[in-house]
Amino acid sequence: MAEVRVRFPPSPTGYLHIGGARTALYNWLFARQHQGKMVLRIEDTDEERSTQASIDGIIDGLRWLGLDWDEGPYFQTDHAADHVAAAERLLASGHAYKCFCTKEELEQKREQALAEKRDPGYDGTCRNLGAEECSRREADGQAAVIRFKVPRRPGLLFYNDEVLGRIERAYSDVEDFVIVRSNGKPLYLLSNVVDDIRDRITHIIRGQDHMTNTTRQVLLYEALEAPLPVFAHIPLTLDIQKRKISKRSHGEVVAVQFYQERGFLPWALCNFLALLGWNPGTEQEYFSREELTATFSLDRINRANSVFNFKPGDDKFFTDPKLIAINEHYLRNLDPEQLGALVQPVLEQAGLWDAAYAGPRRSWYLDTLVLIRDRFHTLNDFAEAGRAYFSDQYDIDPKPLAKNILKHPELKTWLPQLAARFAALSNFNLESTETSCRQMADELGIKPGVLINAMRTALTGQLAGPSMFDILITLGQDTVVRRLSRVDHLYAS
Ligand code: GLU
Repeated sequence: MAEVRVRFPPSPTGYLHIGGARTALYNWLFARQHQGKMVLRIEDTDEERSTQASIDGIIDGLRWLGLDWDEGPYFQTDHAADHVAAAERLLASGHAYKCFCTKEELEQKREQALAEKRDPGYDGTCRNLGAEECSRREADGQAAVIRFKVPRRPGLLFYNDEVLGRIERAYSDVEDFVIVRSNGKPLYLLSNVVDDIRDRITHIIRGQDHMTNTTRQVLLYEALEAPLPVFAHIPLTLDIQKRKISKRSHGEVVAVQFYQERGFLPWALCNFLALLGWNPGTEQEYFSREELTATFSLDRINRANSVFNFKPGDDKFFTDPKLIAINEHYLRNLDPEQLGALVQPVLEQAGLWDAAYAGPRRSWYLDTLVLIRDRFHTLNDFAEAGRAYFSDQYDIDPKPLAKNILKHPELKTWLPQLAARFAALSNFNLESTETSCRQMADELGIKPGVLINAMRTALTGQLAGPSMFDILITLGQDTVVRRLSRVDHLYAS
């Protein structure tokens, strides 16, 4: 097989959303599986709607997901001359013609056709005008678009879709479509094909919403005498009400960046997106990058649309439980160094990072992450629920239970007494701390749990967490003693 070349060609009119990221992922997996090339092309010909912020957002999103590309980014506007030249070739070879029908004329004919229950498509008025007549009208100052001359052949136009099988349509169902506007600007339909031909794209993997374009583009390939790439149209990503997801109707919760900001792991999102529309054929749910690259295949892409379960516009964050479960899986199972690298920017952003975590305290840092990760859902939890491991400034869980745990007024003196016992330990370890704690409970005639639960809340702000004695050792003697000695603030309100 010739070298596989795929592309991801976003229009930079918004952020990279879940659906676009999935398309990028499928292309990337296919390229990597075949040791092929992935081309990034920014389709920026819609000057009014394209923005630099969107280009940056898309590129940052792909980088964050780890979906790298081998060529580009190319910009469609840099190749405007190629698109015009292609239209001229099509005119010269008789595959296209100039159409002088005005908007008003077209609208009127359309309405009439609809009223008479006829096909409202273009009726071919200018299809056979002849060169002389065209020149005369142009000299006359009449504006023209360029239309593609759809062959009026019997039979069916078809292509083989890797996901959907043979797709066919009668030639007579396809109207002569516009490829260049009257202002000389080529339409996306043409530019997209010309760029794919120039970029030698062998496989076009894109959403099913492009299928109406594909039917017409197949004709453009033929007329431009270029080999037809393989098409794979992937199902759409819908919300739970079965609406196509978009920024306009759903807001930020469908943006890749939203998940980045909330501490999702990039590969967890990729793993989730892979399964959102592709079926491995087994029960396997977690795939490493290498496994997914080896297993992915176009023919196991679902035909039916996929549903991404989230709540738009809610203050309370809710996203697909499956995405959360996958994220938790990776949080719990990543090797410590990988986890450490992912948590670092989160701590940096929260002002909790200490350069020593990359140096002398590396093993403390990694051991701590591993100790506390079990109940966490996202990376941000390390800076929120896990804040007390990295800073003396942390809040006490506002749930009434936290107050309840600390309710014994005597704790106000017991905790500092315990601090004094801990301070006196020459060997501050799991056994010695547990012994001191149990001894003190015995002496006071209370259950050790009273002290243990109060200590956990006082030292970490959290009601639950790792074993108390592990927490003590992780925080270290100095911090424990310091925090337990001054507990007045816990009783301030
Ligand atoms: N620019 C198009 C889009 O963002 C891409 C179309 C294609 O994949 O051919 O939808």
